[in-house]
Amino acid sequence: MSSSRDYDVVIVGGGAAGTAAALTLARYTGLRVALLEKQLFDDYRAGETVSSSLFSMLDFLGVGRDLLDGAQLPAFSHAAAWGSAELMSRDAVFSSHGHGLHLDRRRYDAILLEQARLAGVALLRPAQLVQLEHGDPWRLRVASEGQETDLTARYLIDCSGKQAAIVRQRKRPIHTEDSLVALYAYYQLAEPQFLPHRTLVETTRHGWYYAAPLPGERVALAFITDADILKRLRLKEPAPWREAAADTSHVRDIVARLPAPSALRHYAIHSRVASLPADENWTAAGDAAACFDPISSLGIGQAMASGIHAARVAEAFLAGERDMAAGYRRSVFAAFETYLQMRRGFYGAEQRWRDAPFWQRRATS
Ligand SMILES: Cc1cc2nc3c(=O)[nH]c(=O)nc-3n(C[C@H](O)[C@H](O)[C@H](O)COP(=O)(O)OP(=O)(O)OC[C@H]3O[C@@H](n4cnc5c(N)ncnc54)[C@H](O)[C@@H]3O)c2cc1C
Repeated sequence: MSSSRDYDVVIVGGGAAGTAAALTLARYTGLRVALLEKQLFDDYRAGETVSSSLFSMLDFLGVGRDLLDGAQLPAFSHAAAWGSAELMSRDAVFSSHGHGLHLDRRRYDAILLEQARLAGVALLRPAQLVQLEHGDPWRLRVASEGQETDLTARYLIDCSGKQAAIVRQRKRPIHTEDSLVALYAYYQLAEPQFLPHRTLVETTRHGWYYAAPLPGERVALAFITDADILKRLRLKEPAPWREAAADTSHVRDIVARLPAPSALRHYAIHSRVASLPADENWTAAGDAAACFDPISSLGIGQAMASGIHAARVAEAFLAGERDMAAGYRRSVFAAFETYLQMRRGFYGAEQRWRDAPFWQRRATS
């Protein structure tokens, strides 16, 4: 069976950026909007610690905080051994912005998708993009629930995350800075009282660890390094993973109390930025536009902010105002430049392993 539908804006991808773009368009414009999401979110989704800056965006998107119950834990404190073995703590109680959150990303993204659907966005999920033809309008063929549907879109927003489906299809240049990867071990706790109620970061000669509690009595422990180093250290194997964690000053205390990991996941987190068009009927937001090292804490907040901005660009473009796209394109580059300076500051603060490739590469970039 096939059917045909016409939209003003089609959003590809229903993560942080896609849901923010969809909710902005649904709440603040009269445009007909569809969102395609290829997954059911039945696997782990990385990216879980957010600052309190999220709250003002959720307010703007009309998403009540009570909706997040069960998908969040308060993030009261961060501790880092970065630059020395000594642990430095920062408690949210001393911040005027209040505490951040540890999110269950599967549930968080699903809640925002449902809010977009309730706000009037046509949601196709799980949906595979079978065919994509650029033009005015765009023509898309989508396979969803055993049915192929032909869609037209006057404007497309690429929110497909690292896949950057439209950015690549349109052959836009992508500047990549590094080959950073994260190996995540997820643990299901038998002893809820043990849940470490703070984020812990600790550097090592080959990269850095990150541990965070997750809703549902779970813990995420990640090792962040470069792709070639991860391969050389064989950390995907249980014994080297345990031995490397035991060789730390602080992470070892957490690992000693954790059961065997219930899942290991490998994610590419290369810092990169795409050159977006200034005068075409599409743009990109979130990781599809720019990806950041997780030490910057920019991921989810930046993805939502850029999703909101991209929705405004789409609305302006369809109203015949073309200048906003050029401004957005510039702002994506400017944010990436600021991020690179911040990243240099972070990595420059760790001087103990200046001879090790992971730190050497970052001392010069
Ligand atoms: C290991 C790791 C740790 C991180 N830690 C943090 C953190 O602690 N804090 C933080 O703020 N950020 C963190 N981030 C970054 C953060 O997760 C991302 O920046 C954020 O999720 C980007 O949102 P997005 O909507 O652009 O992409 P995503 O959230 O990846 O969503 C993209 C969506 O598009 C869908 N999709 C892809 N291709 C298609 C297609 N062809 N058709 C339809 N759908 C498609 C995908 O299924 C996905 O649901 C981390 C990232 C990683 C990888």
